[in-house]
Amino acid sequence: MKHEFDYICLGAGSGGIASANRAAKHGAKVALIEASDLGGTCVNVGCVPKKVMWHGAQIAEAIELYAKDYGFDVELKKFNWSTLIDSRQKYIERIHQSYDKVLSNNNVTVIKGFGKFYDKNTIEVDGDLYTAKHILIAVGGTPSTPNIPGAELGINSDGFFDLKKQPKRAAVVGAGYIAVEIAGVLNALGTDTHLFVRKDKPLRTFDHSIVETLVDTMQKEGPTLHTQSTPKKLSKGEDGSILIHFENGQIHETDCVIWAIGRQPTTDKINLDKVGVETNRQGYVKVNEYQETNVKNIYCVGDVMENGIELTPVAVKAGRLLSERLFNNQKNAKLDYKLVPTVVFSHPPIGTIGLSENEAIETYGKENIKCYQSNFTPMYSAVTSNRQPCRMKLVCLGPEEKVIGLHGIGFTVDEMIQGFAVAIKMGATKADLDNVVAIHPTGSEEFVTMT
Ligand code: NDP
Repeated sequence: MKHEFDYICLGAGSGGIASANRAAKHGAKVALIEASDLGGTCVNVGCVPKKVMWHGAQIAEAIELYAKDYGFDVELKKFNWSTLIDSRQKYIERIHQSYDKVLSNNNVTVIKGFGKFYDKNTIEVDGDLYTAKHILIAVGGTPSTPNIPGAELGINSDGFFDLKKQPKRAAVVGAGYIAVEIAGVLNALGTDTHLFVRKDKPLRTFDHSIVETLVDTMQKEGPTLHTQSTPKKLSKGEDGSILIHFENGQIHETDCVIWAIGRQPTTDKINLDKVGVETNRQGYVKVNEYQETNVKNIYCVGDVMENGIELTPVAVKAGRLLSERLFNNQKNAKLDYKLVPTVVFSHPPIGTIGLSENEAIETYGKENIKCYQSNFTPMYSAVTSNRQPCRMKLVCLGPEEKVIGLHGIGFTVDEMIQGFAVAIKMGATKADLDNVVAIHPTGSEEFVTMT
């Protein structure tokens, strides 16, 4: 049986759903094909469940580290993992329902099943054929596992979100966003957590001052950080434990190993070769600035595109702009991939946009870069015995001191960055920031009062 549409989005993650809805709002007849739950990585095994768990971890920290000095006679008697997971999953279920409703209101046809290319205008799902003038690849990625003996004894971030019981001990291997976030959450919720990075620090590409502050805080509050630690095999220990054998000779015993060493695109089973869509060696789809692949009517957004930025709002915006171009006559609509703000929900959280100090120096030369910094203890923990640092930095270019990097780590930094990103995207200079009256007492006022 053959079904005809104007637009087919393959993959109902953040990018696919956003693009499908926008196209449908402009009158296109749209099909959205998904083998699993609506929402993809972000909603089901990424940003959303992670942030819920991070909030849980914040509550644990508030009780354990701060409540007493605010006069609360509380004691963390028991933390019930299942309750948190249950609340989290109910929330995710409500997001699924809301997606269903919006897609249905927009008359998007949702097709459940695994879709693959049949020809360049046709996707096959369980033997049925769906044709369209335009097809979007938005199939996302999946966590990578190292190719070492016993790797299957570990789980990945999908497995982490599937844990029915809180592990007593956990080892997180990796150095990126996911490793830092999962290790921070587990540590705050009471798991004896160890973070293993293969080089000298986690988040190596972030500004060095931010990473130094993160590492200092880890030393005080956990998780236990192990550097220069590359696993070479996993084996079973006693009583169901797992042993991680490292190249440096170290052996670590734990109950749960979580691989967080990066992600890979899931393009291998959708027959891209059959229609000639070009990918790189890792399977990422090559696209131009308009999200067009080398095959004229096939496009790609999200984690699966080459040289993309693996962030939900990036996929959403790219998907919407593509639909504006294809179905609303906005001929030049395309995403500007420069100056994308981002937050790592670490403990404390990190917010960043633009170049790090080192990247700025490499790009423009040391003589053209001036940095401003602020180091302080946010009031929240300044009155308690557990002090947590906050550090901020502005990276400025040339005599006009255009702000080309803004970085922060500390209490509530996650909620500070978005507004500053607007200013920076508009080309703000240090003088523009100084020209704004500070809001007192807040942490964000430091960004407009640095000398
Ligand atoms: P990343 O690619 O960010 O980080 C993985 C890191 O693990 C690598 O950079 C590398 O760091 C280290 N690594 C790689 N291979 C190995 C190995 N074999 N053994 C040990 N360590 C290894 O991947 P993530 O999985 O953390 O995240 C994927 C993407 O998801 C991110 O890029 C991010 O954009 C997105 N994300 C965003 C979040 C947010 O917005 N808050 C949250 C979570 C994910 P090194 O070279 O230093 O060893």
